[in-house]
Amino acid sequence: MNSHDFDIIRCPSCNVKNRVPRSKTGLRPKCGRCGTPLLPAKPVEVTDATFKQEVLDSPVPVLLDCWAPWCGPCRMVAPVMDQISAEFSGRLKVAKLNTDQNPATAQQFGIRSIPTLLLFKDGRLVDTMVGAMPKAQIEARLRQVV
Ligand SMILES: [Zn+2]
Repeated sequence: MNSHDFDIIRCPSCNVKNRVPRSKTGLRPKCGRCGTPLLPAKPVEVTDATFKQEVLDSPVPVLLDCWAPWCGPCRMVAPVMDQISAEFSGRLKVAKLNTDQNPATAQQFGIRSIPTLLLFKDGRLVDTMVGAMPKAQIEARLRQVV
């Protein structure tokens, strides 16, 4: 196996870097040293049912990408979310919410246009970014919190 078959995921607890086989990243891998569940290096799908557990109760800040399949600008944001998820691995969880399928959460945060990025820390909404913003601009806003 070469290095492209692995994701490097930093443990949120002891900070050690874990090499996780790409085929296992969807299986909630655990840290090889301390056993803490590793955050996925890819965005996680969040629904109205899992929003509290995945976002509000997260031990690290969460960037929530609110999107819908028919939204063109949302498709431009998607690869940026993948990159940010990998770059901030272990320090930030990137999540995606399909606002068509999960109207309760979208309504709770008053989302009127998509894409909208919501940034949560310690169960509170700390920043809102409306529209398809450039990656550098999103990262600058993230660094104020993460
Ligand atoms: Zn660990």
